[in-house]
Amino acid sequence: MRYWLETYGCQMNKAESEALAIELEAAGWTQGGDSTDADLVVLNTCSVRRTAEERLEGRLGHYRHEKERRRFTLAVVGCMSERLKDEFRARFPEIDLVVGTFQKGRFLDALGETLRSHRPLTFADGGEYRFAPLHSRGEFKAFLPVMHGCNNFCSYCIVPYVRGPEVSRPPEEIVRELDELQRRGVREVTLLGQNVNSYAYLNNGTRLDFPGLLDIVADRMSGTGWIRFLTSHPKDCSRALIERLAGTRAFCRHIHLPVQHGSDRILDLMNRGYTRGDYLKLVRDIKNTVSGATITTDILIGFPTETEKDFQDTLDLMREAEFDDAYTYYYNPREGTKACALGDTVSREEKLRRLREIIDLHRDVKRKRQFDRLGRTERVLVEGVSKKNPGELLGRTEHDEMAVFTGPPDAIGTFATVRLRNLQGATFRAEPVQ
Ligand code: SF4
Repeated sequence: MRYWLETYGCQMNKAESEALAIELEAAGWTQGGDSTDADLVVLNTCSVRRTAEERLEGRLGHYRHEKERRRFTLAVVGCMSERLKDEFRARFPEIDLVVGTFQKGRFLDALGETLRSHRPLTFADGGEYRFAPLHSRGEFKAFLPVMHGCNNFCSYCIVPYVRGPEVSRPPEEIVRELDELQRRGVREVTLLGQNVNSYAYLNNGTRLDFPGLLDIVADRMSGTGWIRFLTSHPKDCSRALIERLAGTRAFCRHIHLPVQHGSDRILDLMNRGYTRGDYLKLVRDIKNTVSGATITTDILIGFPTETEKDFQDTLDLMREAEFDDAYTYYYNPREGTKACALGDTVSREEKLRRLREIIDLHRDVKRKRQFDRLGRTERVLVEGVSKKNPGELLGRTEHDEMAVFTGPPDAIGTFATVRLRNLQGATFRAEPVQ
């Protein structure tokens, strides 16, 4: 019995797909070479933007034709399944099984019932989210979900509606998975959550918060690897967290801190829960406390009622914050979100013009910040051989950037020390330091 699994969307989806693959293989399924010889095709869906759903619909069209050629089971799991439920099968009758976010942990049972009954089924009636015991088959780096869901209800975001309220994972489960990952030689662990720094677990009357969890993880990880975490919300980025980043070498001195916008009026309409002043103070605090820290962000432009002044405020904030990288996109109304009621007031042309200006500014800032680091010696985790030149290796710095340097393939999965010599696009050219 062969399966084929396609994953769309965020790191959490990637981690959950790994968990699903582990469970399928434990139940005797093997991964097919590609989709054409699979008895089971699973699409792990994303619903964060309309474009993500359109992409998925394209894949479903492909599998509709495939079904005219041969028999196989087509299953869809994840956020789009949670959002659409039965409507998903009504719109795409080629689907045999719909499994929502909260039922992912029971996928095998749902699949068994579908195969036994030879009837298309939907399992998306909410319930309690269950963390899988293991989320990685990887060799040296792994995602480790520590919480699920989000309580923030940013007005443009569908996540709280498809992933539900925040649930923090019991620390003993996290430690058990971490120990297993280390036993398998994992060197880089990324703690995952839609809003990871609002982790809070009530343990025998004691509240374990995110900095507390980081202490536990650092203790178990120290000396063998480094720790990243994703995604932080600025309103939950505490002084205690910043001090952990500064004080413990197990943590990468890098934080992804989505600001989304630079205008207080728009931040309020987005329901982000902080002002541009709060955010810039946080950036200063991180840079002043964590030496060599790098900060990346998300910028959403073209939000309903955004004026030229609001846009200029965003450019201004970017100049002041000097981000090391930024993921930039423009607003699309998302059915089911609060912002959807505000209409789509900024024209597509204007959104593209503003996005272009944001990207140009960011590219210059990023390049300047990378240039400033040339000549420095940095540690990298060797991730593979360069596609362009097999005699060269690709390593990732703790600041989540790539460096190319000469070295033997058996260094993959280990740490190396390199001196940053030059820049090729956004990739550093480096030399190994003995
Ligand atoms: S913090 Fe806001 S943008 Fe992020 S997942 Fe939660 S609601 Fe969505």
